[in-house]
Amino acid sequence: MPEPLRLKGIPASAGYAEGPLFNLDPDVARYRSKATAADERLALDTAIGTATGRLAKLIQATEGDAADILEFQLAMLEDDALTGPAFAAIAAGQPADAAWRQALDAEIAGYETSDQDYFRARAADMRDIRDQVLRALSDDSAAAAPAGAIFYGEDIAPTRFLETDWSAGGGIALKAGSAASHVAMLARSRGVPMIVGLGAVGLGAPPADLVGVALLDAEHGGIVLGPTRAEVEAFRQSSSSFAARRSRAETFLARPAVTKAGTAVRVQVNIADPSDVDGIDVSTCDGVGLMRTEFLFGKTLPDEETQYRAYRKVLEWAGDKPVTIRTVDAGGDKPVPGFTVEEGNPFLGLRGIRLSLARPEVFRVQIRALLRAAVHGNLKVMFPMVAVWDEYQRAAALFAEEQAAFAVRGVAQIMPPLGIMVEVPSVAIAPEVFSEVAFFSIGSNDLTQYVMAAARDNASVAHLNSIRNPAVLRLIASVAAFGRAQEIPVSLCGDAGGDPAAIPALIEAGLRELSVVPAQLAMAKAAIADVSI
Ligand code: PEP
Ligand code: MG
Repeated sequence: MPEPLRLKGIPASAGYAEGPLFNLDPDVARYRSKATAADERLALDTAIGTATGRLAKLIQATEGDAADILEFQLAMLEDDALTGPAFAAIAAGQPADAAWRQALDAEIAGYETSDQDYFRARAADMRDIRDQVLRALSDDSAAAAPAGAIFYGEDIAPTRFLETDWSAGGGIALKAGSAASHVAMLARSRGVPMIVGLGAVGLGAPPADLVGVALLDAEHGGIVLGPTRAEVEAFRQSSSSFAARRSRAETFLARPAVTKAGTAVRVQVNIADPSDVDGIDVSTCDGVGLMRTEFLFGKTLPDEETQYRAYRKVLEWAGDKPVTIRTVDAGGDKPVPGFTVEEGNPFLGLRGIRLSLARPEVFRVQIRALLRAAVHGNLKVMFPMVAVWDEYQRAAALFAEEQAAFAVRGVAQIMPPLGIMVEVPSVAIAPEVFSEVAFFSIGSNDLTQYVMAAARDNASVAHLNSIRNPAVLRLIASVAAFGRAQEIPVSLCGDAGGDPAAIPALIEAGLRELSVVPAQLAMAKAAIADVSI
């Protein structure tokens, strides 16, 4: 018996899968060169047409975020800026497959080598586009994976994910990948277990004698190939206990969250796209604790009307429950073309409120949209990445100026309560500097990375990036205590709020308000019910 191979990664979508390993990578298409450049050109044109047609068909069968991903790919494929260099290489004598691969690889390299998670995550879409056309060129349909397989490779294409029937189980284990990628997002919303960041030190191609059975633990972040019998048994126990916790959790969804000792905890949801609320029954949550607005700033800067409509939709969905909308937190791992600046160390650069204040003409558009939207519900607005009092004051002054201008023109508007994220250590250490804000919301993703000096998207320092480190918990507890003493509401909207393993520590730290991703709502409420405080 060969030795089992055990690899550690980062959980991107919690769950367990046991099945054969399916190697995603040796997907090299065979292509026969044509006689003339004109024929090569025709071959590439036809292949792009085939890939475009497939995408259009897939879009019709898909909705929501998945359709957005496919539409992005379709737009890229139809863009001459992407296809032009390949046709130019054909004119210079290259065969169609080499020309296409070369053109796309050059583009992909730019995305992959970016130090920003957002762009690295988009590299998967570009690879997907490259491979779809290469497959169409060689007329080779993708090798089929066995039912219930664990897809293993560098990265997985969104179209590959969407074409796969996950009803028989299965999962995803990636050497690279990112928990912020489109596929990770899809995996979470469909409950497909997934881990990322196994690293180059993992397998090259998986050894043939180990691919028979793999155990994927995407709750803790690990995969075992060729496991021992004892490992299989322990894995099955963990897997059924996870399934039992999941289904037990569903019974908590409809009820308000309370601990075993009867302490009430408000649980809100984190959203981005307004359509995120479509699948949520508003009665199952206490409102929206964080609406990220970066998504609106995708390809172009959004105008006031576009933003107003997006905010209004969420406010109307929530009725009288509060909706906390965060002003744009561009920069860091969320660059926005035409807005953010190129920086050596973007996590410590011009991001969040710093950038909004540096570009008031962009910020004022968002402020106007928020003031108008406030008429339609229970809006609260918060500023991201605040580090000093002056930033809050300047942002609040811009709100006041825009409100005054609206009042002169008789435009319907309401000034919402203005609060701040607590995600820069300077705020968590000295919250008294900010005692005039309307509320605090702890951004544990950033607070943890800044306290621990360990990037939130770097697998090799993931062991340091822990909210349960005493230094991080002490800061959270002191902000919660300050809020209680001053009667300033404090909530937490980082990913830890939805992590059942972190919830007891957060409640012990004094928090009574959490905001979690919708997919974790039931699990978070169930975890709260187990806390004895
Ligand atoms: C955080 O930092 O915890 C947070 C909620 O904001 P984001 O993840 O968008 O940076
Ligand atoms: Mg943050």
